[in-house]
Amino acid sequence: MPAISKLATEITPSATLSLKEDVSSLEKEYDFKIINLTAGQPDEGPTEDVREALLEGGKLHTYGAVQGDPGLREILSTVIDKEIGVQYTPKDIAITVGVKGGIDILMRVLLDPGDNVGIITPYWVTYPESVKLAYGIPCFLKSDENLRPDLSILRKEVKDKNIKVLLYSSPSNPSGVVYTADELEEIARIVKERDMWVISDEIYSRFVFDGKNHRSILSFGDMRDHAILVDGPSKRFGIPGWRVGCVAGPREVISALTKLQGHVNSGASRPDQYAACVAYASEKACEASNNMIQRYGENRNIFVKGLNEIEGISCIKPEGAFYAFPCIDRLFGYKYKFSDKEYTISSSVDFRNFLLRKAQVAGVEGAPFGMDGNIRFSLATQEENITCALDSIRGAVKELYL
Ligand code: PMP
Repeated sequence: MPAISKLATEITPSATLSLKEDVSSLEKEYDFKIINLTAGQPDEGPTEDVREALLEGGKLHTYGAVQGDPGLREILSTVIDKEIGVQYTPKDIAITVGVKGGIDILMRVLLDPGDNVGIITPYWVTYPESVKLAYGIPCFLKSDENLRPDLSILRKEVKDKNIKVLLYSSPSNPSGVVYTADELEEIARIVKERDMWVISDEIYSRFVFDGKNHRSILSFGDMRDHAILVDGPSKRFGIPGWRVGCVAGPREVISALTKLQGHVNSGASRPDQYAACVAYASEKACEASNNMIQRYGENRNIFVKGLNEIEGISCIKPEGAFYAFPCIDRLFGYKYKFSDKEYTISSSVDFRNFLLRKAQVAGVEGAPFGMDGNIRFSLATQEENITCALDSIRGAVKELYL
């Protein structure tokens, strides 16, 4: 057989997808019931009116506008204005196949082979791979001990590495850090001084706890020619399987993205866009979304407090998104026995396996998020799963020995 490409060989498979297989094979082999805290998606689906709209949208069976349904772009123009206070007309917005599909094409729009992209650590697992898929080079920018962006490192690295595009999510997957106005202002200043691009992934913008407000870098002065927003309905309305995302930015970028999208996938599914229009306009959907966010906030309170009471684990309090990302590296070097074999924990994958085997709790190891001393747990679940998982983790960690 002839060889497949070097690029295809080198791309890292999605950690969450391969984990799913590990979880089900362990469940089968040992008759375990594992509490799955790996989900990158809400545990609630869309409200009935939105589900009905999807069925009705089925009548839209022909190709649609590659840039996206004009009605949905109109709605998003209003949503962006209302939520982050900037005016993007429907012409400045494109609908993509999920936010993931938007980021993928954006990379090809912005990068030439060998261009450097600054990714603030810890990051969503797909960022480095989407940079590599466009033949760019990911450059990782360290955060401080509280997992906040380290702005002096950022300032130095963008200059030293001649970084062309900066990429981050706020609220952050996996850390839950929400960038402050001061942090965003400084990032905006650096981006303008260096005349570079910034892609702001705001897919968790509604998931902000404690009555805090989400701020967008787009709302800082003169960012129009530098900032690109990616967002979408997947998380807020519990419709990640419908594959709708949105990109807003300078018209030249949106036109180029649309041109490429015309050859990549011809645009997002029309019935899904139709239903997304109904979701954004539906009071029921917005109310359900707010209730879900409040529930995740309560899960966070219980889980993070409990984790911090466990010797060897420390967790910053997530301000948004729906994940906890505790540091577990103080448990490296500890051992446990499972099925007559002794194991030593020396990486986040080892810790993840330890929890699977001894606590029957599934989290995602921190390594693919750029931090091997951490593990990510999803809070998008029922409270009962959170309390049971805590008890099991506490019990399993207690039994570790040196
Ligand atoms: N950005 C971040 C930070 C995410 O966590 C995710 C999903 N896990 C996405 C983008 C992908 O969103 P979509 O389902 O719209 O492709």
